[in-house]
Order: sequence, then C-alpha cells, then structure tokens
Amino acid sequence: MISWDGRTRKVVLDGQPVDTARIVQSGDGWIATIAAARGVDLTLTASQPAGEGVFVDLWRRPAEDEVGVAVVADRGKPAGLAVIPVCECGEQGCANAGRQINDFVDAEGTLELIDLVSRLPLLGQLQPNQEVWRPDPAHDERP
Ligand SMILES: [Zn+2]
Repeated sequence: MISWDGRTRKVVLDGQPVDTARIVQSGDGWIATIAAARGVDLTLTASQPAGEGVFVDLWRRPAEDEVGVAVVADRGKPAGLAVIPVCECGEQGCANAGRQINDFVDAEGTLELIDLVSRLPLLGQLQPNQEVWRPDPAHDERP
C-alpha cells in the first residue's frame, strides 16, 4: 500500500515513512518528490489518496526542468545514473521516452528504486549505445 500522511507530510510505503522533499495534491491524488540522490529527484504520482502503486519518474533536479534520468545497465544489472541529453529534434520529452525511469511500480518496487538510486553513481550523460535498466512493473495499473 502506498499513501501519504498529511500530518508528517511524508509518503508511506508498506507502513514505512519515507523522507519526502515536497508533496502537492493533484486531483484526487498527489505528487511527491523524493530527493533520491545528489542532483536527482524521484517523483511519485498517485491518482488516489492511497493505492497499490504509483508512477515513478526520475529527473535531474529540479524536476520542473523535465530533464529525464536513466538507470544505465551493465549486462542487465543497474550500474549508474545518466542524464538524458536532448534529442536532435529539440524535444526533451522525445529524448526521455523509453529511456527515462517512468514506470508504474508497487510499494516494494518503489522502496527498492529509492534505495537503488541513492547508491548508484551519477555517470554524466547517457550515451547512444548505453543499455538502460527498468524496474519490474506492478501488475495492475487500474485498481
Ligand atoms: Zn526527437
């Protein structure tokens, strides 16, 4: 279960409060920013007050700049973080697509991702030939 505590203003993942830099209400849900690593923010977007999963996105700080961050893989295993350079068409969103961490994950997957991102080194810019890693998706996007 993933929810947020209005009193402490922290996200709660399977009963475990997580340090939350910022949280804003959005429709019926909320968007929380977790300072996951130096210079990197993880945003959690929930469509309801509490549920089984959230959309997670990884951004170069500040997330408002919408510069995506990918997890670089080495033989299938997460090896580092890399900022995604803008696409030659000039659209950052196009560059992010398919490479940025933006996935629907459950509470366990979110905790694992926060831990992973906090431990991985920032490698600089993503290179065109670099393999990227994605978390296992939660099974049910629409409870
Ligand atoms: Zn493009």
